[in-house]
Amino acid sequence: MKCPYCGVDDTKVIDSRLATDGSQVRRRRECVECAERFTTFETAELTLPRVIKSDQSREPFSEVKLRHGMEMALEKRAVSTEKLDQVIQSILHKIRATGEREIPSHEVGEFVMKALRDLDQVAYVRFASIYRSFEDVNAFREVIKRLEREAKTNE
Ligand SMILES: [Zn+2]
Repeated sequence: MKCPYCGVDDTKVIDSRLATDGSQVRRRRECVECAERFTTFETAELTLPRVIKSDQSREPFSEVKLRHGMEMALEKRAVSTEKLDQVIQSILHKIRATGEREIPSHEVGEFVMKALRDLDQVAYVRFASIYRSFEDVNAFREVIKRLEREAKTNE
């Protein structure tokens, strides 16, 4: 994306969110050269990004896997299928809103953990412990620390 101020071809995205009707992504960008900031509206990528696994291999995003992981965490918990559907749709919405074509698997895990934290504390802890067993331990610790900090600032 070209900077409208100095014309240099190198800008970075500093914020990305879906516009209210959901069909466009609004991005705040900053020019790497002159540091001017500007906003773009881009057509939302409605396909989901590919997932970058911890071994750097890529795979198509799987809503089935996402749902399966959450269902395991929610087993025998008092959360309706309807509620789970809503939460899954909201996670997919957020992942699309990143506007990225590829997303690291730990970021997907982070979206799920945030959603579960608000939905059901037991499911959250269960998911977190499953997640830890197959993800990089340091990345996991970072996520937990950040969520704890966020939880504190929300109180
Ligand atoms: Zn510039």
